[in-house]
Parts: sequence; C-alpha cells; structure tokens
Amino acid sequence: MTASRAPAEPEVREFEATVESVDGREVVLSETYFYAESGGQPADRGTIDGVLLDDVVERDGRVVHVLDEEPPGSLAVGETVSAIVDDAFRTYCARAHTASHVLYGAARRTCEDLGYAGFDISAEKVRVDLTTAEPLDDEDLVELERLANRAVWDSLPVSWETLPADEARAVDGIAFNAKTEEGAMSGGDAVRVVTVGGSGAGDGSEAGGGDDDAAPAWDVAACGGTHVRNTSEIGPVSVLDRSNPGEGVTRVEFAVGPTAIDHDAAVHAAALDAATSLDARVGDLPDAVERLRGEVDRLEGELREARADLLTARLAEFPTAEVDGATWAVGTVDCADPNDLREPAEALLAGDGEGSDATDGAPDAVAAVGEGDAPFVVVAVADGATGGDDASGEGLDAGAVVRAVTDEFGGGGGGGPTFAQGGGLDADPDAVAAWLRDR
Ligand SMILES: [Zn+2]
Repeated sequence: MTASRAPAEPEVREFEATVESVDGREVVLSETYFYAESGGQPADRGTIDGVLLDDVVERDGRVVHVLDEEPPGSLAVGETVSAIVDDAFRTYCARAHTASHVLYGAARRTCEDLGYAGFDISAEKVRVDLTTAEPLDDEDLVELERLANRAVWDSLPVSWETLPADEARAVDGIAFNAKTEEGAMSGGDAVRVVTVGGSGAGDGSEAGGGDDDAAPAWDVAACGGTHVRNTSEIGPVSVLDRSNPGEGVTRVEFAVGPTAIDHDAAVHAAALDAATSLDARVGDLPDAVERLRGEVDRLEGELREARADLLTARLAEFPTAEVDGATWAVGTVDCADPNDLREPAEALLAGDGEGSDATDGAPDAVAAVGEGDAPFVVVAVADGATGGDDASGEGLDAGAVVRAVTDEFGGGGGGGPTFAQGGGLDADPDAVAAWLRDR
C-alpha cells in the first residue's frame, strides 16, 4: 500500500480496489484515490460500496478510510469494492488549493522577504499565512487579489513532478513549508514540485530553446495536495480579510467559488448603497466620505459654541442673592455635563455678559444646579473673592460650598477655591438652588 493517488491523478472520481484490511470502521484498500487530510487540505468525502466516509487519514504510510458506520458483510478482506470520490468537494478543494499557490505567486510580486507560514482550507474560505518584511495593508490585499485574478484569467498551466530532494531544493525560488513538505516528501528522498505557469520545472519537457528561454513560473512550491490543471479552472478569487496572528505574519483569508461570488456581490451592493446615500459615484466614495466627516467636525464645533452661548445666556439670567455679604448668582440649568459650565461661569464672573464692560455688575460667585435625572452642582468663585480680605474676614471657597451641598443633599464631589462640582445629589434641583440662596 502506497500513498493516495489523488495528488497525481486528481481527476479520478470513481475507482475499484481490493480490501486489504478492515478494523471496525477503518478500511485499507489496495490503492486509493481519496485524499487524506494533510498540510491544510481537508480529507476527501465520498463512499465505498455506498457507505459514506467519515474521514480519511494517513497513518504509518497507509491511507485509512474511516467509514461513517460499521461496514456491511460485502466489505471484507479480499473483496473488490467500488469507491466514489465526492466530486463537488474535491473540485472545490483542488480549486481552493491551487488558488493558494496563485495567491502566493501574487505575493512574490508585491512583498519583500516573502515566506510561507501556513495554509488551511475550510468549506467557506481559505487562509494563507505569509511572512513579510512589512505587515500587509488594505492596498496590498487589493493588489494581491487583482494579480491573482489576472493569473486566473491568463489561464496558466499547472503541473507537477516528483524530484529528488536535492534537485527540488535547488529549484529557483521554490516555496517550502513544514506542513505541506510532509505530504510533498512522502516518497522519502523525493519531493513533489508543483509549478504554476512558465514552461514549468514540473512538465518534464526540456525540448526547444532550453531553460534560458523558459518563461518564468508564476509559482513553484513543494506540495502534496490536489490541484487543477489550469488556473482558469479556479474562477474568481475574492480576498475577504487579513489579520496578524503573530510577529511578522499576515494571515490572508480568501474565497473561491460561490462564497467568493456572493461576497463580491455583497460588497458591490454595499458600495452602491453607500454611494446612493451620499449622492456620489462608487469611485468617488472616499472623497464624499471625507467631505462628510469635515462637515460633521464643523457642525460639532458650531454646536459646541452654540451650547456655550446658550449656557452663558442662561447663567446671566440667574437671580442674585446676598449670602454672607457676597453676591451669588444661583439657578438651575438644563445641561448634561458639568464641565460645559466652567467657561460660561467664568465669563459671567468676569463680567463678559452682554451689556457690561466691567466686573461692577458681576456677581462674586455663581452656583448652577443641573436639572435632569442626575442633579449636580457647579460652583465658581471670582478670583478676587477667594482671599481672606473681604468684609467677613473669610474668602469664598467653591470647594467648601460644594461640600456643604453634598453634606445636605447627598452625593459627592470636590474642587478648588475657584471651581468645584458635585454630583449624585438626591434632591429636586429647585430645592438645592433655594437652599443655596437662603443659607
Ligand atoms: Zn498545493
């Protein structure tokens, strides 16, 4: 029993073989065209004498077919059985797998210090891990996708041959990786070399003008998987995403087949939708979005200013009260963030309000109680009123006033002599304002 014949003859979908051993649900055949899971390519699906396969694994150099159920009596040692390789899944795997070579070939043309760090095919998508000098960005992804699809359109031949290990390692630019090498090296000292494009190290023909005239290959790799014969069989390649699973490694996720087609349609629809919303063409979306962001920034700035003006006007309307010989402006205000009151309060104390050009008419201190679900208090004291030289012999202290409020009404807060704030008051804002006036 040798390794699977699938990599060498990937078109075979039906074959007959002799049962060599049966152990529970595990069957070994005289030869097989089922691919055993290896190097990131999943095991084939299919049937042996009508019994579904659950898995195909390579163990001790033998391909073991794990049946989905106990084998029927007809499936016994020495009997000839008929096997069918699931066409849809194998075709998908061969196309997806070859696409990974094509994508790597594209990366050869765009990335510096390129290396191969892993590969995996799932039913929905394929991932290729690349090591590169610089992390790949969105632009790199778009270029990889573009080049890969060009290589598909160019209908490059895909060929394979088995070379002695030394010879294989000497092939110019050949990609090796620990995982697929396992499958590629299954023949001992021999290495399976897969070539995409060019005259190919893999087509065995050296006729004609010799190696010097050979077109350069798109990609050459040591690989034991199943591949299509021509890149045109791959169909559209759609890059889905990128991530960085480790230092210096970029993981590129892509799709072929229906997943790729559906993904591209969804992206196209989203782009058209966005373009309609912005009254722009798809190609002009970046400019349109940039204009929109600039507009949002400008409007946010205007809104901030308008709010500040509104709060300043509101504070100017506060009734004043004499408390311990100082003039206090006290009132309630509809404002979500206490910090928004700082500048308007300072402006009021400085006499910057409308109609006044001096601090004569300005109060010594202002206390604003925030309305809403979470009442708060903000206290600001004019610079000149904080010292110890006023009539009472005691300066005003914003922090002390806020502490007095939170002692009376709950909550907490703090601040310095000129500005302080407290929150979490458990009281009606009007009651807090009244208390501040009548201290
Ligand atoms: Zn391969």
